[in-house]
Amino acid sequence: MQPRDFAVLGDTTFDVLVVGGGIHGLATALDAAARGLSVALIDAGDFAAATSFNHQRTAHGGLRSLQSARLGQARESIHERRALARIAPRLLRPIPFMVGTYRSFVRNRLALRAAFRLDRYLGRRRNEGLEPELHLPPAKLTSRAATLKLFPGIRQERLTGGANWYDYQIVHTNRLAIAFAEGAAARGARLVNYAEAVSAVKDGTRIVGMRVRDALTAVEADVRARLTVNCAGAGVNTVMGLFGVRREIPLAKAMNLVTSRPASEMGLAAPARAGAASLAEARSAKADKPAGTGRMLTLVPWHGRALIGTWHSDDFRRPGDVTVDEAEVAAFIEEANSAFPALKLTRSDVTLVHRGVVPASAPRATAGRPARAELLVSPQFFDHAGDGAPGAVTVVGTKYTTARAVGARAAAKAARILGASTRQTDTATAMLPGAGIADHEALTIETARAVGLEVAPPIIRHITGIYGDRCAAIVRLMAERSDWRMPLVPGRPIIGAEVIHAIRAEMACTLADIVIRRTELGAMGHPGAEIVEACAGIAAEELGWDRDRRDREIAAVNSFYAGSSA
Ligand SMILES: Cc1cc2nc3c(=O)[nH]c(=O)nc-3n(C[C@H](O)[C@H](O)[C@H](O)COP(=O)(O)OP(=O)(O)OC[C@H]3O[C@@H](n4cnc5c(N)ncnc54)[C@H](O)[C@@H]3O)c2cc1C
Repeated sequence: MQPRDFAVLGDTTFDVLVVGGGIHGLATALDAAARGLSVALIDAGDFAAATSFNHQRTAHGGLRSLQSARLGQARESIHERRALARIAPRLLRPIPFMVGTYRSFVRNRLALRAAFRLDRYLGRRRNEGLEPELHLPPAKLTSRAATLKLFPGIRQERLTGGANWYDYQIVHTNRLAIAFAEGAAARGARLVNYAEAVSAVKDGTRIVGMRVRDALTAVEADVRARLTVNCAGAGVNTVMGLFGVRREIPLAKAMNLVTSRPASEMGLAAPARAGAASLAEARSAKADKPAGTGRMLTLVPWHGRALIGTWHSDDFRRPGDVTVDEAEVAAFIEEANSAFPALKLTRSDVTLVHRGVVPASAPRATAGRPARAELLVSPQFFDHAGDGAPGAVTVVGTKYTTARAVGARAAAKAARILGASTRQTDTATAMLPGAGIADHEALTIETARAVGLEVAPPIIRHITGIYGDRCAAIVRLMAERSDWRMPLVPGRPIIGAEVIHAIRAEMACTLADIVIRRTELGAMGHPGAEIVEACAGIAAEELGWDRDRRDREIAAVNSFYAGSSA
């Protein structure tokens, strides 16, 4: 990507201005650019730093949709799971899941066998066009004995056996978001992070762009576009408000727990026991009163550690409600232990609390009971011409897995409104930059030889694992300065060149961008003061930060984790 330049937004009228650089905005920008539209994308913070940072890293094939008879959604999930594996094979891996079957109405073998048959039919082309290592075996039922072996601690009462299926894990989620950004930029889109839409630019009632504030300099500029697309995630209602549209998408809070507990290779799914303390009870210290959501939780191994999700609030929340609330975390830990008793999770095992504000379904009033938030299952699109604000549309996505398709649909709608071609693009099949599989170790060694460097095997493995073919750029930086090729801390293969690469080639503007989202050093929890200090030193020199700014950047990184670990 080009270095960040706020000025690129000001000199033209774009076809499309995308507000929000989470995964839905990035996917919309990618597909719109693939149609030949001129595209700008802005994000108030860093790319994919909000909800898109906080998800559970599973590209779902839609088994739950099948169990709820939402066939269209299941088909789209299966298709998009494959699309991600096609366009970013390096960043995904197959992950097996297991759930118990019971003598029960909903979780019995017959019901799952029927769902698996349907899954086999809808997913019959699930492996087409994929690298062999990404092929997913069909789902199957397992015996009681096999289930007990694979799922230690599973609830045994009325257990009849188990069911085993495969999805993908998005192992390097932040790298995937950057690959979408690079893909959009490579097709001509202009992307700027730390650029917030603060008001609408109007011509009468028509929206003709947004007034955008550069968060790094406080400079403001009008960014003009024939169509503005609101992909602001939790900020969706605020941005509709800027358009002058009165609509309210209900929002809920959702969380995962990143833990230090080791996890086996198998992802596990189990319902939390009805009777586990609900949040409201935890807050009012009436935890003995039975309630319990009985929600289905999953425990997935991520870099060898247990990542548990997904909890969501029963009540509706405000956009910025992403603080770590101890009562919520305690209630979640209790639910997790009821679903996975062998885990025996404690607060001190939690290294990071993922939290995001997500769209919920509209509250349905039931006699005498307060409305409960349920997560929205279908994406929504609004053309605000119908709300008296032509020139603006809103996209509300619900899953990282299907974001590419949602973005493609949003871009097609934009093209229709603009009178451009609505033909399908190649974004479901064209490899994203840096996301392909190849012999990157050989590439590292060749590049190192060309620049006269010898790179230690652990560093080769580390940079190829995180950066794929971008390893060549990292090696060239290593050749520039000795302190960029030294490990940041003794005994770890992390090097200064990664910090420089994040700044020069991936628009990292803050220490948090570098530590948490580009290098992934802090993706699972605080990486340690020594690493943060070392990254800060290199970034300070590259970006010209004085001592005070450097300290503030370090404090911002530390505050990101505040409350996450015990
Ligand atoms: C705990 C949890 C677990 C999940 N697990 C999974 C999972 O395993 N699999 C899956 O498929 N999905 C999962 N999801 C859902 C998935 O994470 C979301 O659907 C997706 O990340 C939402 O992306 P988004 O682009 O809509 O929103 P965001 O990622 O929130 O992006 C919106 C962006 O808009 C920007 N913005 C807001 N206002 C403005 C403004 N005025 N100007 C400029 N920019 C603005 C924000 O800064 C933000 O970056 C999970 C979600 C959560 C919270």
